[in-house]
Amino acid sequence: MTKPETMRAMVLEQQGRPLKLQQVPVPEPQPEQVLIRVHTCGVCRTDLHVVDGDLKDPKLPLILGHEIVGTVVERGSAVKQFKVGDRIGVPWLGHTDGTCRYCKNGMENLCDNPKFTGYTLDGGYAEYTVADQGYCFAIPKPYSNAEAAPLLCAGLIGYRSYRMAAEAGERLGIYGFGAAAHITIQVAVHRGKKVYAFTRPGDTETQEFARRLGAVWAGSSEELPPEELDASIIFAPVGSLIPAALRASAKGGVVVSGGIHMSDIPSFPYDILWGERVVRSVANLTRTDGEEFFQIAPQVPVKTQVQTFPLEQANEALDSLRQGKIEGAAVLVVSEE
Ligand SMILES: [Zn+2]
Ligand SMILES: [Zn+2]
Repeated sequence: MTKPETMRAMVLEQQGRPLKLQQVPVPEPQPEQVLIRVHTCGVCRTDLHVVDGDLKDPKLPLILGHEIVGTVVERGSAVKQFKVGDRIGVPWLGHTDGTCRYCKNGMENLCDNPKFTGYTLDGGYAEYTVADQGYCFAIPKPYSNAEAAPLLCAGLIGYRSYRMAAEAGERLGIYGFGAAAHITIQVAVHRGKKVYAFTRPGDTETQEFARRLGAVWAGSSEELPPEELDASIIFAPVGSLIPAALRASAKGGVVVSGGIHMSDIPSFPYDILWGERVVRSVANLTRTDGEEFFQIAPQVPVKTQVQTFPLEQANEALDSLRQGKIEGAAVLVVSEE
């Protein structure tokens, strides 16, 4: 297939402004990179944080998007891992130095010199993108291009958050029931957890969605669950959920914050942390997380619910996500095959 000189892309020129549809050059793959024709790209809350300026110093101008599903159309001279025609996925973690003490100790998610897709590297809100071969994943066959996209961040970060919470016990709370939660609950229920889902007050539709996916209880984040929780995962970027989750926790309970940005956490009395309760964050992903998750997802099997938008409607997709109108995950459809 001959590749064109230019491509359509939704470009962020400045934070705080909507994305603009532009015709830009198709990128050239470096020796370790593949050139990918993008089929779909998930719309993640992190994209909103980049647009809104909650996350500082993005590459500008920037092509957002770090849940990319596409087909390899060209390989850099050193690429061995994938061949032309392979369907692959590109996640948030786009590059690490491999030499810092985090990388050397199996914590490449905390690398001192990382690059992130759709933040410090161009991402998938475009017809083509390039990615380092070592950070891409093969996409399991059963998933369509649209269904697979949310697995690449919502799924991976959800799974890493779940792992941090899982050992604490059987009763798992999930605060914020969007893309990551709707995947994580399926893994949790499959592994025998009792899941308690918390939504914005009054959002009975999302509470019903959570019950359909196996939650034993669903209610408002302002309520206490009927039983104390052994662990909670917070996916909503709302700092007041940390003390709320601690108040719902049993002794020894773990509260995991899975988002990259959160509003300030209000002060809280020490006695809700006392009793060996733990608060921690989850940052980024390792490639091992990805390999594990893509093994597990088809076994559960994780099914994603997606609402699709054409590439040109990326701003509308971001707005719908901001307003909490997406049930499951928002996905941009760029090309069919
Ligand atoms: Zn490193
Ligand atoms: Zn993301």
